[in-house]
Amino acid sequence: MTDARTPGFDTLQIHAGASPDPATGARQTPIYQTTAYVFRDADHAAALFNLQEVGYIYSRLTNPTVSVLAERIATLEGGAGAVCCSSGHAAQIMALFPLMGPGLNIVASTRLYGGTITQFSQTIKRFGWSARFVDTDDLDAVAAAIDDNTRAVFCETIANPGGYVSDIPALAAIADAAGVPLIVDNTSASPYLCNPIAMGATLVVHSTTKYLTGNGTVTGGAVVDSGKFDWSASDKFPSLSAPEPAYHGLKFHEALGPMAFTFHSIAVGLRDLGMTMNPQGAHYTLMGIETLSLRMQKHVANAVKVAEWLENDPRIDSVTYAGLPSSPYHDRAARICPRGAGALFTFAVKGGYEACVKLVDSLELFSHVANLGDTRSLIIHSASTTHRQLSPEQLVAAGAAPNMVRVSIGIEDADDIIADLDQGLAKATA
Ligand SMILES: *Cc1c(COP(=O)(O)O)cnc(C)c1O
Repeated sequence: MTDARTPGFDTLQIHAGASPDPATGARQTPIYQTTAYVFRDADHAAALFNLQEVGYIYSRLTNPTVSVLAERIATLEGGAGAVCCSSGHAAQIMALFPLMGPGLNIVASTRLYGGTITQFSQTIKRFGWSARFVDTDDLDAVAAAIDDNTRAVFCETIANPGGYVSDIPALAAIADAAGVPLIVDNTSASPYLCNPIAMGATLVVHSTTKYLTGNGTVTGGAVVDSGKFDWSASDKFPSLSAPEPAYHGLKFHEALGPMAFTFHSIAVGLRDLGMTMNPQGAHYTLMGIETLSLRMQKHVANAVKVAEWLENDPRIDSVTYAGLPSSPYHDRAARICPRGAGALFTFAVKGGYEACVKLVDSLELFSHVANLGDTRSLIIHSASTTHRQLSPEQLVAAGAAPNMVRVSIGIEDADDIIADLDQGLAKATA
């Protein structure tokens, strides 16, 4: 690629961040299964430890296989840099870590992945951080929830259950006006369907466990930084703007500019929190990411077909999928993710809780699992599994009412997916 044209997504998902292995010429990115790297000499070691030279020291911080994946994800998201982590939940902590401190808060959407609600409402309190949950469709409420101690606004591109799509440009404008970053969990859209950074987001987090790997083999996460936020514009982000005692008073933002957040995440976050992705895991995700666009096209096409079929079936009460004209988020989805509204949705079965449980047990092609974003079609009845500790009112508020099941539509033949649902519904509603 010697001319000035920017390669397209299909090219970047295969090539970004990778080049033939300098030692062997290996065309595929090798799995660098090593914990440490030999220093050329004492001066080289000193330069690396001072962050004066970029290189490999120890695989808790950086590893060549993991670095290729980080650069590829950063490129696909249009970011300046990225750091890979051991899981999506690790990525969320890594995204917040440079911003937060005791007494500080984030303003978060009420519509988030269930595990994230738990992490934000319970676990982060142990660090002295807190989350204020607001309905992100009420933009005035979002602005009103931000105070002097707020350090980020957090939402998901496409949130489940409920087929909810966030108005990323509107939320970015509110965060911007308050001088704090917008963090977007782009897991269920993937960078093929949405680029939050192009719409004003500062940080993007991923569970690479899902569509980026795509086949349910490994857990992983990533934090992508736009490189555009001015961390020195206020005194709110001292980890990035003030002298860092553990690096001889280095000011990350002043010294590293658009790479400040990424370098801090590696040099301080991974160094001290240790939420590192391993090279084997990175290898599986690199394999998966090469076909991301092809899979997402098929996931979306299948989801549309299956959702339309379900919506017209008399055994179904409702389908919540932003890809359907019946969804209140249909127009917003066309603006935020024009290539499709993902492949994750819920539907309500006539016959309620009992019929849902029977449906899940009767399906043969679908797997009953607590996962999403696999090549395989997956189903879960949230009320009897992931959300079973909630009260009936809480279940409805969470979009996980007793008569709802959630599906993650795979890339099998759509006719086979529909045939399986048809036979399962026949048994469930007999
Ligand atoms: C799965 C998921 C997470 C958590 O990721 P893990 O890799 O399971 O830690 C966070 N957000 C969303 C939207 C997810 O689907």
